[in-house]
Amino acid sequence: MKLGFVGLGNMGAPMARNLLKAGHDLVVFDVVKSNVDALVKHGVGRVKGVNTPAAVLDGEVEAVITMLPAAQHVKSVYLGGDGLLTTKVNDVVLIDSSTIDPMSARDVAKAAADSGALMLDAPVSGGTGGAEAATLTFMVGGEEALFNRMKSLLQAMGKNIIYCGGAGNGQVAKVANNMLLGISMIGTAEAMSLGVSLGMDPKVLAGIINASSGRCWSSDTYNPYPGVLENVPASRGYTGGFGSDLMLKDLGLATEAAKLSKQPVPLGSLAQQIYQTFSLQGHGGLDFSAVIKLFAKK
Ligand code: NAD
Repeated sequence: MKLGFVGLGNMGAPMARNLLKAGHDLVVFDVVKSNVDALVKHGVGRVKGVNTPAAVLDGEVEAVITMLPAAQHVKSVYLGGDGLLTTKVNDVVLIDSSTIDPMSARDVAKAAADSGALMLDAPVSGGTGGAEAATLTFMVGGEEALFNRMKSLLQAMGKNIIYCGGAGNGQVAKVANNMLLGISMIGTAEAMSLGVSLGMDPKVLAGIINASSGRCWSSDTYNPYPGVLENVPASRGYTGGFGSDLMLKDLGLATEAAKLSKQPVPLGSLAQQIYQTFSLQGHGGLDFSAVIKLFAKK
């Protein structure tokens, strides 16, 4: 298949490389020219770089994947002056994998439908490691028949491809999951800090939690206490992994969406405030499990 790709950052670049590996040719755009050049160099003869989002469609691509930082970038790439929807998009499938709020995703999907394009929102979890290894989880919203048609394309970049319902529901699944992840990480950090300050060995405590009713992913797979698990950010100075500022962004999306639907999310709001405090202290670039530093005895 010939495909378009817009947004070749930490996630987009490895995803695009996996599409090449699966045999697809690409037409790509990023506002940072060096990101385009790097992919053109990587896929010599099979990747064409262009200068605007709309120009991606000049190459007669069948589908376009976008992987952008936030809703304002997605709106500019789809609806802006030289955006994807300013050109002929009939029957092209547009797949946005950025993490944005469900309402913006639904607005863009409606504009795409009005222009004759077919659209899916397909945010991912699995981080940069999952993007490299093509093991991402895709949470997909849009028409089910279109989802079934595009599933094998997404399988070139991911392992679990899950249909979530109508337009925007992929983003709903993503914000709900990440809100719970933020809350459970803070809870795990609090419990580990309490136990250690009262005299427990952190590894023994984690072992008990992981065999008991407090067990969760933040505790048994990504424990925030240094030295409890190998190969997690907590055991390498909280480098790599999922940045605290990205968690703050996702908690902001969850609380904003909750406000609009008048749905109370007291723990989600508190988690958002805690990550905001952590970011203000200059830790936004550290992995999100570093939030345990807030509970450390000086
Ligand atoms: P990034 O900042 O590394 O990459 C974004 C890319 O988009 C950059 O190359 C940037 O130059 C480009 N871009 C920005 N505005 C543009 C525009 N108007 N036109 C074209 N290109 C533009 O971000 P990332 O880490 O790749 O994340 C992308 C999305 O994936 C975000 O929504 C993020 O929340 C989500 N996500 C990230 C992770 C992660 O671990 N990094 C995990 C899951 C989901």
